[in-house]
Amino acid sequence: MYIADFPRRFLAHLPTPLEKMGRLSAELDGPEIWIKRDDCTGLSTGGNKTRKLEFLMAEAELQGADMVMTQGATQSNHARQTAAFAAKMGMGCHILLEDRTGSSEPNYNANGNVLLDHLHGATTEKCAGGIDMNAALEAAADKVRATGKKVYTIPGGGSNATGALGYVNCAFEMLGQFNERGLTVDHIVTATGSAGTQAGLITGMQSTNTRIPLLGIGVRAPKQIQEENVYKLACATADKMGCSGTVAREDVVANTDYVGDGYGIATPGGLEAIKMFAELESILLDPVYSAKGAAGLIDLVRKGHFKKGERIVFLHTGGSAALFGYDFAFNFADRWNSTS
Ligand SMILES: *Cc1c(COP(=O)(O)O)cnc(C)c1O
Repeated sequence: MYIADFPRRFLAHLPTPLEKMGRLSAELDGPEIWIKRDDCTGLSTGGNKTRKLEFLMAEAELQGADMVMTQGATQSNHARQTAAFAAKMGMGCHILLEDRTGSSEPNYNANGNVLLDHLHGATTEKCAGGIDMNAALEAAADKVRATGKKVYTIPGGGSNATGALGYVNCAFEMLGQFNERGLTVDHIVTATGSAGTQAGLITGMQSTNTRIPLLGIGVRAPKQIQEENVYKLACATADKMGCSGTVAREDVVANTDYVGDGYGIATPGGLEAIKMFAELESILLDPVYSAKGAAGLIDLVRKGHFKKGERIVFLHTGGSAALFGYDFAFNFADRWNSTS
């Protein structure tokens, strides 16, 4: 099967740009680093969930849903993009937000993505950290169904085989851009969380026998669990595409050395990456995902794992709206009343 065979609601701004990061590459004095701008997918400040939602929301529409429900952490980018997509389609949206960090910072709890969830008309409810969120979602959906609503549920991060089709498509899009420009690429690096992005990408790349190593930088789970999650979802996605068996277990590689104290807790390396990308490339990262991915990339260049003469593509998965829920993580007192 090919992508056009699957129901899809076209809403993302595609293709997203592929750009060279000249100043960051020069600063690190290592490989040539490019960036695939999936922070520019267009929907309510963009991000990677929009590609997945193109397929998920088309399925919701086909099933006659008048409401979607999903779940995520308080500052979930997935929740915000789902709320925006639902608004555009005239569907209701209710979101379960897990208190995964225990933060009582006012902006963390009401600004950034939470503000945007509410602006797009979604309703939210808070859940205690550490519970089985997908089970809580199904239980909450059944209650709403009992009132007569037709509810379509979307798992955390939009990560099932339907959502992952969005990243199979992204792999094809990137390969087209590499081919058009005659760019040979040695590695692709991206943040990996609920696994749909990495699973879709690896399925797309292996189904075309591309063989560019893909490295996922983890933001939550330990390496073994993260790789298993990605591998399982890649197999399900390949089955759906009709190319079962194209992804091998060893094609799935995650490095989880950059998680720090836990999901959603900013790290010194991540904060450094945010400042480097902002000051050198005018690109905004987020502390939860893309900054940890970029921190891994930067550290692996510094350690010589990625070398001069190589070309790396960093997939920017978005998340900048979360910055406004994480102002407390930065200290810019020295930027006031000084010119040095
Ligand atoms: C969800 C998310 C990711 C992780 O993608 P998964 O498909 O969940 O692995 C990375 N970056 C950002 C900004 C995200 O919102």
